[in-house]
Amino acid sequence: MGNGKETREPGEELMQKIVSLCKRRGFVFQSSEIYGGLKSAYDYGPLGVELKRNLMNEWWRDVVHSRENVMGLESSIIMHPEVWRASGHVAGFSDPLVDCKLSKERFRTDKAGPVEVQSDGRLVIRAPDKAAAKLWAEAVKTQHAPGARVETRDKDVVLHTKSVAPPAEGRPGKIVLAGFDGGPDVEIPYRGYVTPDFNCPFLSEERTFNLMFRSFLGSVDPLAEVVDVFVANKDKSKLELRALIEAALAKSTVYLRPETAQGMFVQFLNCLNAVSMKIPFGIAQMGKAFRNEVTVEHFTFRSCEFEQMEIEFFCEPGTDDQWLEYWKNERMRWWRQYANNPDKFVFRRHAKAELAHYAKDCYDIEYEYPWGFGELEGIANRTDYDLKKHAEASGQHLVYTDSARNDPATGKPPLRFTPYVIEPSGGATRGTLVYLIDAYSEETRRDAKGEPVVRTVLKLHPRLAPIKVGVFPLVKKDGMPEKAREIVEEFFRAGINSRYDEQHAIGRRYARHDEAGTPYCITVDGQTIQDDTVTIRDRDTTAQERIKVDEALSVVQARLGKI
Ligand code: ATP
Repeated sequence: MGNGKETREPGEELMQKIVSLCKRRGFVFQSSEIYGGLKSAYDYGPLGVELKRNLMNEWWRDVVHSRENVMGLESSIIMHPEVWRASGHVAGFSDPLVDCKLSKERFRTDKAGPVEVQSDGRLVIRAPDKAAAKLWAEAVKTQHAPGARVETRDKDVVLHTKSVAPPAEGRPGKIVLAGFDGGPDVEIPYRGYVTPDFNCPFLSEERTFNLMFRSFLGSVDPLAEVVDVFVANKDKSKLELRALIEAALAKSTVYLRPETAQGMFVQFLNCLNAVSMKIPFGIAQMGKAFRNEVTVEHFTFRSCEFEQMEIEFFCEPGTDDQWLEYWKNERMRWWRQYANNPDKFVFRRHAKAELAHYAKDCYDIEYEYPWGFGELEGIANRTDYDLKKHAEASGQHLVYTDSARNDPATGKPPLRFTPYVIEPSGGATRGTLVYLIDAYSEETRRDAKGEPVVRTVLKLHPRLAPIKVGVFPLVKKDGMPEKAREIVEEFFRAGINSRYDEQHAIGRRYARHDEAGTPYCITVDGQTIQDDTVTIRDRDTTAQERIKVDEALSVVQARLGKI
């Protein structure tokens, strides 16, 4: 810092290395990079698209193709706008937002922490540099807390607190600041949080911001509608005008889905009737979701366009607790089985106060990212809330009738109920990032001269690895390229993604495939031409074995089959 050298957190440094590898090897690119990039949008390159698809295919195989009681669905991204009104997304899917009056930073209040006050009562607002500290101190003195004792020390603005009381039991919170030169104390409002990073308590009012992307369907020109309303109502207040414009646009407004889940609730009856499932059963869907996130952060961790893998599992009320337990364990098993460091995946049960009002219980599967623990998947008991809401709004009977318990001989009425729902809802793009982080490793070895050489390896699980086998001719002559291409063809025919590579020395080819996460490399050399054997190199151990050419496919198939 003071010596001009940049110092970085170890986690941040690791992320920079991963981001750079992603670009170098073609996993993830910034969207529209040649135009300066689009904030928070990412493209999956030749290797990234394979990795993400492999992950999603593994999920589908595990939750749909390995279970008799889960069926798949692909619903549309743009749905009837009533879906989002009934689900509560139009009214409530919003983040509370606030602006910092000093830094002008906009942040989510639910992500901000309490004020830090030192043991001697000093409240230090951390400005980015000395000049900013001076300006901020001036603004505090003249606008935000006139009369308070304010000093600057290097990049810090220092205030002196006499007491700090967060809001409690309906009472607003406040911070009492010491007055300038022994003058009277100055009270400022305190809502229990400050600007992250700066520790600034001077904040704007909270506002909410809907996270759904809005668009317009049909041949309407929304701007023309807005202009018409405006021209006809010039005398109205801003608030009234807004309501009139909203009403005029309502007939054509549609939303990009912010989650895949609602598609499964609204197709519940169709799925049930088409496949005659017996309860308990699930509907699974994976695909794109869109949220106009206020803060986008940590590479692809939180982006505006992302992919989800969700299951709605319908069960009889009373059995919901045990199904929540079942799915929470199933999902943890699934995430951990592809990981090098399974201990980095943990459960976090939501505290009662944190639960959505309709949820009975919820566990997050969290991962220890380089910047700390964060969500990867949520497994919630959503009760019968969603089906009942859609039944109410659509007028359809979204209920389950148990025909097995509908025996006329007993005289009992058929058993009909609104199922409870257990929802495991995970991120596919976030999961892809998790496995990239989990796989990234650097090994330092000594070369022939004793110099340290760093080997970067992506230790991706073979089933997730974009390329399963690299096939190389040792040199570009003596029939080696032809033989290597024959082997590649054989892998292609078996549906195994393999790549022929003859560029550069063999060591560089191995290094390239280590970074791509290719678990096996097969090399055709002089001996192959004599005895029909090749070497197969293991990415993680770098050990090489000689195997028969005609066994290469079955050896790789056997190793790929293992989970
Ligand atoms: P967070 O607390 O991280 O904002 P959330 O609780 O809003 O997540 P859910 O609505 O439960 O997330 O969505 C389920 C899953 O979808 C999350 O666990 C995450 O893996 C993924 N997800 C949600 N929002 C995003 C996003 N903006 N970018 C990438 N993945 C996301």
